[in-house]
Amino acid sequence: MGHMNFAQTVLSHGGIIKPLIIPAYMNQGLGLMNPSILNHNGKLIVILRAVNYTFYHSEKKIFQHPYGPLTYLHPENDIKLRTWNYYLELDDEYNVSRITKIDTSSFPEKELWEFVGLEDARIFEWEGKMYTSGVRRDLDTKGTGRMELCEIDIREDEVKELSRVRIEPPNNPNSYCEKNWMPVLDKPYHYVKWSNPTEVVKVNPETGTSETVFLEKSPRIGADTRGGSQLIPWKDYYVAVTHDVSLFKSETGRKDAVYTHRFLLWDKEFNLIKWTDPFSIMGGHVEFCIGLAQKEDDFLMTFGFQDNAAYLLKFHEKVLEEMFGDLKVKRNDDWKKTPFPTMEFTTSINTETGCVVDCVFCPQRTLQKSYKGERFLSLDNFKKCIDKIPKEVRITFAGFTEPWLNPNCTDMLLYAHEMGHPVSVFTTGIGMKLDDIERIKDIPFAGEPNGGFTFHLPDRERNAKHPITDRYIKVVERFGELRDKIQNFNVVAMGEVHDSVSHVFSKAHVHDMWDRAGNLSRESILKPELLNKKDQYKSFYHGEKEKTCGCLEKLYHNVVLPNGDVSLCCQDYNLEHILGNLLDQSFEDVIPKDNSCFNLCRFCINGVDPK
Ligand code: SF4
Ligand code: SF4
Repeated sequence: MGHMNFAQTVLSHGGIIKPLIIPAYMNQGLGLMNPSILNHNGKLIVILRAVNYTFYHSEKKIFQHPYGPLTYLHPENDIKLRTWNYYLELDDEYNVSRITKIDTSSFPEKELWEFVGLEDARIFEWEGKMYTSGVRRDLDTKGTGRMELCEIDIREDEVKELSRVRIEPPNNPNSYCEKNWMPVLDKPYHYVKWSNPTEVVKVNPETGTSETVFLEKSPRIGADTRGGSQLIPWKDYYVAVTHDVSLFKSETGRKDAVYTHRFLLWDKEFNLIKWTDPFSIMGGHVEFCIGLAQKEDDFLMTFGFQDNAAYLLKFHEKVLEEMFGDLKVKRNDDWKKTPFPTMEFTTSINTETGCVVDCVFCPQRTLQKSYKGERFLSLDNFKKCIDKIPKEVRITFAGFTEPWLNPNCTDMLLYAHEMGHPVSVFTTGIGMKLDDIERIKDIPFAGEPNGGFTFHLPDRERNAKHPITDRYIKVVERFGELRDKIQNFNVVAMGEVHDSVSHVFSKAHVHDMWDRAGNLSRESILKPELLNKKDQYKSFYHGEKEKTCGCLEKLYHNVVLPNGDVSLCCQDYNLEHILGNLLDQSFEDVIPKDNSCFNLCRFCINGVDPK
């Protein structure tokens, strides 16, 4: 299969494998499968699934059953595929020392569908009560599957089901089959319902309702990764075994499947931070793991093989450490070191014409030469990026071109605001319609540093070459009416306000012009107009010494480009420092470590010595 054989790895690292069997007379020698394990106060206990059928999977596809490579063979006198659960205890050698069938007689089966019984029951303890939780599909004639939470009472002579609560999913009452939710061992009533993207739900054990309490918006693993074992606390993380399934049709058009597995690692807030490559457990195509426990420095992992046999693997936690790689690498949350973390968005880059306003002090030609990729940032990709950025990070619409050159800019701004980010804007108003102003005027724009709603007006000298049309003047006039109503509104220009709009704003703040960390000097080769204005902008050079960012936002005022690349800062028109790509990577993987030094900072007035 090409995947790592995990059992071999375990054995070569001094681990062991043990079968989990019950005597044949107890289950007529039929299928045993999908065991779950728990370290209950030092004692290892197992729930073992026993079925009344035999599952046959033709791994090599040589002698397939006429029904296909994947077939269930049930007894002649029973058309149903039944599951019963056995409670097992293990001794110190991992041998089965107790077997008790779980008594479910308080809840007679309805038997309305082909599969009967509680399937793939995980075992865990929440608030001092022992529970099993798996999927039941026999309550209607179409096999609707729901997770059930069942309290069990474990006594010396019996193990009895005390309660049975059917759990409704949080958002889709019509979903067909909810299964493989992963109980979180140390967080009562919480399950990881879906691992990629991670969705955590909290269940009300009285009513059976559930609510989503954590949802990562986009998947992190490029695979269909599904639930598996319990989530168990380990070091500063949660760890679990999950499965990837690839379902396909055999050459004869019959249903077939290959299951692979991964260990996943979440931080305590359920951010998925690491995952292993997919592996096979013993080289089979149909294997399934719903049990993981830790005892001292060892892990115990229980799994079913071909729905016919059940095993336990014991391995030292070092095996897992090796598979995950360096666990000491924590998520980079250095952005928290400034109270003003900011992500700027460049909503479009036209490499042929540059920003239509074409301000003389803006290195557009440099940008046109260095950018490659989509011209427009799509609304979908914008949302993908926003969903990865922590809410505390201010979203600024400015970037390397006029933001409203992208027709979706207003929708983007509203989305960022609705998702709870502080937002700010730097715009000339070019591309805006009156309707856009109405939609955004009530947003509480965040203030300094480099915040607010900054409106950049045309100037008499035409340093900024706004295309001044009647529509544009109407936009300026509307902003004139709203100047005291829009939070943190301010106007700037690159000189005296242009006559076409001076009846609305007679004055505007004129900032000092800087050469954008050396980029304007480079631009003057491409834009001769700049050569006559050399005395109107200032430049700076710190020398050869390493410099980092001294802005209030520190190194955390980065710019997302339409292709998802993230540039160091709004001075980097040459795109010299691309930190990563927010569409492909997490925010934490993209942003720099505090105090990192960049070449650009040596040419920037804001550059300082690293601490
Ligand atoms: S300063 Fe702003 S408006 Fe002017 S050309 Fe650059 S990006 Fe466009
Ligand atoms: S060039 Fe460096 S110092 Fe200047 S603003 Fe950008 S990150 Fe900060």
